[in-house]
Amino acid sequence: MQKIIDDPTDLVRGALTGMAGAHPELDVDVENSIVYRATPKEAGKVALLSGGGSGHEPMHGGFVGHGMLDAACAGAVFTSPVPDQIQVATTRVDRGAGVLHIVKNYSGDVMNFEMAAEAADGVEVATVITADDVSVEDSTYSTGRRGVGVTVLLEKIVGAAAEEGLDLEGCRSLAQRVADSGRSMGVALTSGTVPAAGHPTFDLPEGRMEVGVGIHGEPGRRTDDLGTATEIARVLVEPILADRDFTSGPVLSFVNGMGGTPLLELYNLSADIDALLEEAGVEVVRHLVGPYITSLEMAGASLTLLSLDPEMLRYWDAPVNTPGLRWGAAHAPAGSRSEGRRSASATGGAAAAPAEGRPATVSPERREAPPSAARPAAASGAPGTVGARTVEAWLREFARLVTEHETTLTDLDAAIGDADHGANMVRGMNAVVAYLDELEDVDEVGPSTVLSKAGTTLVSKVGGASGPLYGTLLMRTGKACGDAPDLDATTLASALRAGVEGVMARGRSETGEKTMLDALVPALDAFDAAGGDLVVALDAAAAAAEEGRDATTDMVASKGRASYLGDRSVGHQDPGATSAALLVTALRTAVASTTKE
Ligand code: ADP
Ligand code: MG
Repeated sequence: MQKIIDDPTDLVRGALTGMAGAHPELDVDVENSIVYRATPKEAGKVALLSGGGSGHEPMHGGFVGHGMLDAACAGAVFTSPVPDQIQVATTRVDRGAGVLHIVKNYSGDVMNFEMAAEAADGVEVATVITADDVSVEDSTYSTGRRGVGVTVLLEKIVGAAAEEGLDLEGCRSLAQRVADSGRSMGVALTSGTVPAAGHPTFDLPEGRMEVGVGIHGEPGRRTDDLGTATEIARVLVEPILADRDFTSGPVLSFVNGMGGTPLLELYNLSADIDALLEEAGVEVVRHLVGPYITSLEMAGASLTLLSLDPEMLRYWDAPVNTPGLRWGAAHAPAGSRSEGRRSASATGGAAAAPAEGRPATVSPERREAPPSAARPAAASGAPGTVGARTVEAWLREFARLVTEHETTLTDLDAAIGDADHGANMVRGMNAVVAYLDELEDVDEVGPSTVLSKAGTTLVSKVGGASGPLYGTLLMRTGKACGDAPDLDATTLASALRAGVEGVMARGRSETGEKTMLDALVPALDAFDAAGGDLVVALDAAAAAAEEGRDATTDMVASKGRASYLGDRSVGHQDPGATSAALLVTALRTAVASTTKE
């Protein structure tokens, strides 16, 4: 891996610190990974908030400023931000007229923004979801299309409208119109390397290209021989024009670099695209060419076409002043560095206060193995029941297992996703272990609270799809445990079922879609069917989880990032089902070791 980094886990923080230093017109809350304008917009105007995984710079933090966003939440590399973070930013940017959340259509982003909006008390939130990537067939996969290039154009156009004072509903419907009027298509010539994974997400031999690639290094729809610029222009233009009519009015052409392709090539490609569009009767009235929504150092490009109505065109031309996009009448950057606020947020000040119940500290030493399941000395409850100590042992054992299998989880995710599942789970479970380490008497806290807190910790630390889903699983299971200090097999089974139903509701998913549910649901069914002795039932559950996990290999993914691959997801085991099988195994181990006493 050839990268200018220190610790991969500290890269986002370092980059945000650098942004804060380089852009006095921004106020960067490094602790919470939120980029704000140093000078908030006037009271009574709608605020625009976006966010997403890091690795796409300048999007989104680079689009904070006059005429675009009011704030942007950065997640870990390719991992969506978490609800707490989004909620903090939502509350802070609200100027009394409501906040528009601009969300790209990825399961993780959608779920994390949704949870933040549900929790945003007292602030009116509207949401627009971008889903413009035509390489994903719209009707076939229920996750829908990925949000890519149109997001940048939408942030610019609606940003100008908000600046002029359009109200929240006006901004939302304009945003929806932009989202509906744009289409994108991308190709990749090389893979990027997620720093925590340490190796390229996919292999692409010399002379080949991925066609229909997303912005996370997800493999594309197919690989093809690398074409000339003219040929690539055709590969990008044709599916877009086949998907939507762009001949009936003025169009904006956005040729985007993925991070590793120089402007020289992008302008050359733009010229070829212009020629093809002219031939097809498309009137291009505005261009944007450059790396604006990148995928680390991936070489490649995407094309976004957007039909512009007169209102959209006027907003496009309006002045903008952000680190990533800047034109028109200069709105001078705020002269002062607004020292007070900067230092307040850099140390986690008012707006950055951690939500109640969140662990105060998380060990930065992510790779240090968490304490093992063996730590809790004895079962707390009656024989054959699960008490708080067994729950603690379960979570510690799960943390140990995801750490041991981090590389496997990441590699499975690299094949059909974005190479972050191992890092996500380890980051989340380390935070859970930090919470457990702080507990003085776990029995006093009880299984319900331990599970619920572990769940909220995952939601606030993981991001992506797995944060909200595993978080919901544990929160709902915890809630369903009630006040009992010890759970018998029946109570445990019904609590776990409540948790799994929570996953289905949050993920809008069911079994057979190649997800964690394909390990969890069979495990629960086997547990119920076995009845009687807890250890025997959990043996059956663990075996069923492993079988369910293995069965995902032959499935076509229809939820999560892997669904963008369509049939190409077949032949790969699902990373989430793999970690879910570890969760069940961990429960069996914890129960077996504590009930031996
Ligand atoms: P992301 O997909 O955001 O990168 P992770 O890589 O951590 O997040 O987690 C991916 C796993 O999440 C998938 O392998 C799948 O098992 C699970 N998953 C994704 N979307 C859903 C969903 N809608 N319902 C259930 N599980 C899902
Ligand atoms: Mg992933």
